[in-house]
Amino acid sequence: MTIDSVQDGGPLNDDMASVRPGTVIANHTGRLILTPEDPNASPDGAALIAALARAELIGEQLEGWSDRLGAGPSGAAYRVGAAFLSLVSFTGCAVKIATAPDPRAPFCHLRFPPLAPHPQLYAGRNTRPPRCRDCRGRLEDWRERAARWASQPELYVTCPSCGATRLPWQWDWKEQGGFGRRAILVEEVFPGEAMPTDALLDLLRAASGTGWRHFYVRDSLL
Ligand SMILES: [Zn+2]
Repeated sequence: MTIDSVQDGGPLNDDMASVRPGTVIANHTGRLILTPEDPNASPDGAALIAALARAELIGEQLEGWSDRLGAGPSGAAYRVGAAFLSLVSFTGCAVKIATAPDPRAPFCHLRFPPLAPHPQLYAGRNTRPPRCRDCRGRLEDWRERAARWASQPELYVTCPSCGATRLPWQWDWKEQGGFGRRAILVEEVFPGEAMPTDALLDLLRAASGTGWRHFYVRDSLL
């Protein structure tokens, strides 16, 4: 999208949540993904959604947006809530976020994919080969391996550099990809543009009984 499509007035402006008046920075194609630190954790989705609605991270459910929302994993979609900008921290000196549903342009919203049967890899154009936690060697052929991980998630991967073996999610993916059975997708966020606040991570822990981490995926490839 172009920045102009947000700046040019029109109906979007009524729904813009503004941190500070100034230049428009958001939005871009991409997403901030939150998953439990333990990728096998499977916290209850309804309880999570209820807690996030009470905290006003999310607002009303978006329905009838399947065309616009269909680019990524399926799942319930929600508008951002009144407390979204106090729970998700956007970088940059001034940010305006398009939050009104728009079939033609990116807008910020949240998605809750169904619980995956085993840890699912979220990766995209920004994902780089993960590093061995022993020798820092890279797993260059991770994309070829990823298809097998979908059906055989417990497949240990041997480091081509040092021979150490570990499960796919035990490699160091940095903030460029990750695994989880339960995930929350904050659309549409450019990698690094937004971060969960400590308050949001505390809220997620309280609602799920487990710690959470975050990473970014741009133009999902899997
Ligand atoms: Zn290694």
